[in-house]
Amino acid sequence: MSRDPHCIFCKIAHGEIPSARVLETDLAIVILDVNPVVKGHVLVIPRDHHAQVRDVPDQLAAHLGSLVPRVTRAVVAATGAEGSNVIINSGKVAGQTVDHCHWHVIPRFSDDLVDWPWPHEEYSGDEKAQMAFRITRELDGPID
Ligand code: 5GP
Ligand code: ZN
Repeated sequence: MSRDPHCIFCKIAHGEIPSARVLETDLAIVILDVNPVVKGHVLVIPRDHHAQVRDVPDQLAAHLGSLVPRVTRAVVAATGAEGSNVIINSGKVAGQTVDHCHWHVIPRFSDDLVDWPWPHEEYSGDEKAQMAFRITRELDGPID
C-alpha cells in the first residue's frame, strides 16, 4: 500500500484524521467534503496515494468509477438534488488542492451558487482532426 506521510487524504484513509465516511471498500473511502460546494458534496478517494488521476492504475480507476453511480444515487436521494456533477481536478492549474486523486460528486440545485457552465473554445481548420490524431497516438500504450 502506497502512502505519503504528509498527505491529508492518506491520513484520513488510515483513520488518523476524522472524517464523515459514508462508504468504505477495500480500496476506497467515500467521505463528506469538509467545505462542500453544495451540502452533500462527497469525495471518492482511493486508499492508496496517487497524486493525480493520470497516476491511478486502470483496475483501481475502474473500481473507483464503479462506485460513482451508486454514490451519486445516494447523494441525490439524500439531498433531493435535481442533478449532480462528477468532477476530478487534476493539477494545480485545474484547481486541485489536495494532491491525492479524488472524484468529487456534487449535488446540484437550480438555485445553488455554482457558477456553471464552463466557457468553450472552437476548433478551426484541421485543428480538430490533428488533435484527435495526436491524442489517439498517445493512447497507443499498454493498459496496466
Ligand atoms: P481539490 O481542490 O483537490 O479537487 O479538492 C479537495 C477537496 O478536499 C476540497 O473540496 C476540500 O474542501 C476538501 N478537503 C480538504 N481538506 C479536507 C479534510 O481535511 N477533510 C475533508 N473531508 N475534506 C477536505
Ligand atoms: Zn495521499
